[in-house]
Amino acid sequence: SKVPSITLNNGVSMPQLGFGVWQVPDDEAAKAVGTALEAGYRSIDTAAIYENEKGTGQAIAASGIARDELFVTTKLWNSEQGHDATLRAFDESLGRLGLDYVDLYLIHWPVPSKDLYTETYKAFEKIHADGRAKAIGVSNFLPGHLERLLAETSVVPVLNQIELHPQLQQAESRAFHARHDIRTEAWSPLGQGRGLLEVPTIVAIARKHDRTPAQVVLRWHLQLGNIVIPKSVTPSRIQENIDVFDFELDADDLAALAALDEGKRLGPDPAVFGG
Ligand code: NAD
Repeated sequence: SKVPSITLNNGVSMPQLGFGVWQVPDDEAAKAVGTALEAGYRSIDTAAIYENEKGTGQAIAASGIARDELFVTTKLWNSEQGHDATLRAFDESLGRLGLDYVDLYLIHWPVPSKDLYTETYKAFEKIHADGRAKAIGVSNFLPGHLERLLAETSVVPVLNQIELHPQLQQAESRAFHARHDIRTEAWSPLGQGRGLLEVPTIVAIARKHDRTPAQVVLRWHLQLGNIVIPKSVTPSRIQENIDVFDFELDADDLAALAALDEGKRLGPDPAVFGG
């Protein structure tokens, strides 16, 4: 594939760019994922709460691509945290996907008020030991949540999937992850396509390289070392978002993009979300 792989802290390799399917209805997911697989994507990011694991699994089965060439991620929803509920929810996700393992299983949100993420992660460690998830990790964890996980469990999460884009650059989390050999995966890498792609600095850099604003933003993530999972259901954009491996941003571009950080969250605050 044209997408380079990175090696996670457990030796598993993962494409640095994948395809996200949040908000894609189940009956459209098979088509969108099929288009992405044809375009060369080999990593797919879904979640139980997206309610499209079935359509995602159908596209995987129909693609004829060897299972070991694909990287499938799904996530445990907040209401299923806790040891037994986690094991049950994982089986249900596998069933809907029609797979006998996932490449990566993530705790979707820490939900600190429930105080179950450590117990949940211990169930993840069992799933991992059984070989049914080749890697385990977390999503939306703040450094404090990760500190506790590292202290109370044994398998270091391979990555933390967090909201990250040029207007929310997450310097503190990225530095914490780097210190602990945890990869940073960016969700809403394009800022959900709202506003960010019209920011004059980004539009100007895109013109300079004869690329689109989305491609410039994805390139920025890749050069920072982030894993990215842009979403689109539009075939031309699905293609455009993977065509980012034949140009490079220079130091001036990177400095101009660094200046766009304004701590602007589009999604919920992980410190309080989920009850
Ligand atoms: P995104 O930043 O990927 O933006 C997607 C939107 O941007 C599209 O719906 C479209 O409107 C627009 N877009 C896409 N490609 C474009 C292009 N080339 N040109 C112009 N506009 C374009 O947003 P997202 O879907 O929120 O995030 C990506 C993925 O991250 C999700 O699909 C999901 O897999 C994951 N995610 C995870 C969490 C979490 O809590 N872990 C939360 C949100 C999203």
